[in-house]
Amino acid sequence: AIKPAQDADSTRIAIVGGGLAGSLLALALARQGHGVDLYERRPDPRRQSAGAGRSINLGLSKRGMQGLRMVGLLDDVLARSVVMSGRVIHAPDGSTRYQAYGKDAGEVLHSIDRNELNHLLLDRAQQHPQVRLHFEHRLVRADKANRTLEFDTPDGSVTVQPLWVAGADGAFSAMRRELQHGERADYHQEYLEWGYKELTLAARPDGSSVIELTALHVWPRSHCLFVSHPNLDGSHTLTLFLPFEGEESFATVRTPEQVSALFAKYFPDLLPLLPGLLDQWERHPTGSLITTRTAPWRFGDWAVLLGDACHAVYPFYGQGMNSAFEDCCVLMAALADQPKDLAAAFSRYEQQRRPHTDVLAELSKANFVELRQKVQSPWFIARKRLDLALNRLWPRSWLPLYTMIAHSTMPYGEALERSHRQERLLRTALAGIAALCCAGLAYAIGVKP
Ligand code: FAD
Repeated sequence: AIKPAQDADSTRIAIVGGGLAGSLLALALARQGHGVDLYERRPDPRRQSAGAGRSINLGLSKRGMQGLRMVGLLDDVLARSVVMSGRVIHAPDGSTRYQAYGKDAGEVLHSIDRNELNHLLLDRAQQHPQVRLHFEHRLVRADKANRTLEFDTPDGSVTVQPLWVAGADGAFSAMRRELQHGERADYHQEYLEWGYKELTLAARPDGSSVIELTALHVWPRSHCLFVSHPNLDGSHTLTLFLPFEGEESFATVRTPEQVSALFAKYFPDLLPLLPGLLDQWERHPTGSLITTRTAPWRFGDWAVLLGDACHAVYPFYGQGMNSAFEDCCVLMAALADQPKDLAAAFSRYEQQRRPHTDVLAELSKANFVELRQKVQSPWFIARKRLDLALNRLWPRSWLPLYTMIAHSTMPYGEALERSHRQERLLRTALAGIAALCCAGLAYAIGVKP
């Protein structure tokens, strides 16, 4: 039976999803004086016993830092993170090569435990008198005509009637489904044919790290890929990306012998560092990866989407959370610009964001190939060095694409366009230099034109 509306306070804003984007937005809105109700499907994650959740960590970069700064939490988060100043590439023969992320000391990423970040955001939201947290509230229906939301809870169904609602309920968003129901809406989703499994590379007994701590580590292989993020306690979270199907895949690598054989063939340097490998392989689930593009992101002056709910991307550019936090900043700015016209604010937010998150989806796909294959190619390495050298020479006018995506807040689409312009310029310059060299050579050997 549906209970009468409990929180029928139509002056409060509802946020569906208490993940990273939802909890950050709750804080941002509360700091502006709005009353916020945050509804989360799961039980309170902070009540889980320590060690119940695995450590999954994320790379925080400029856009995400801007979001955390907006709610006054940047310093607290940085204090809990490990700086990654570049990436260490591990070749199949066990040799390593270091690639700095940028020329400046500030051009670094920060590795942060996802659970810890979420707990911190929820703690701060809860401490704010304007925020109420509702766990074990799963959105099941949104009635757009009556502006109500219906949640399943352990005590039965609950219906609320907020002033407006933000859907931050992740890649499989129920709010998106409800918002778009009966509308002229586009929705496109793509699964990657590769899945992922997370493993922990423990620290030594004295707490020191068995591989360089302050870097992202990559073991690129054309057939599989390992990436590792460091943790404050000296351990690393390793993520193995492997196809779901095929000769060497999650489908065929199942028994202890098959797992050991895969590691012996592709990651022999990791094998001695992972004594608990087989146990972890067995216990840790295999995750799948999805890209989504959708429109519209809003419904009139009543509902708006953000984060993975409207643009889930593959994790290969490390921008999912960062772009979700950037959504919060853009949405808050749009609300500040149009305080009396929510429909206009939501529309402006979508116009400002959607073209760029669509670009991010493509960049994230392309970076999958870069991480797996290109980082080892001499041409790619030379090109990266040239990019950094040009950036050193002209720090304002020449910016590598990675720098613009990870270390700036330039909209993604503008960053890509600018990188294309730079690429064209470089090609023209190189063609000019080649032509001059040919002409010089021809002159030297006495060929007449
Ligand atoms: P989520 O974090 O998914 O939160 C959604 C919340 O909504 C959840 O708490 C969920 O329980 C709740 N919910 C769902 N349905 C309902 C419902 N019906 N009712 C109520 N609540 C509901 N990003 C980076 O920036 N850097 C990285 O290095 C990075 N690495 C990644 C590595 C991997 C392997 C993966 C898979 C992702 C990675 N990401 C990274 C992406 C990042 O995790 C996501 O983009 C980010 O979590 C999105 O935040 P969100 O709040 O939109 O969604």
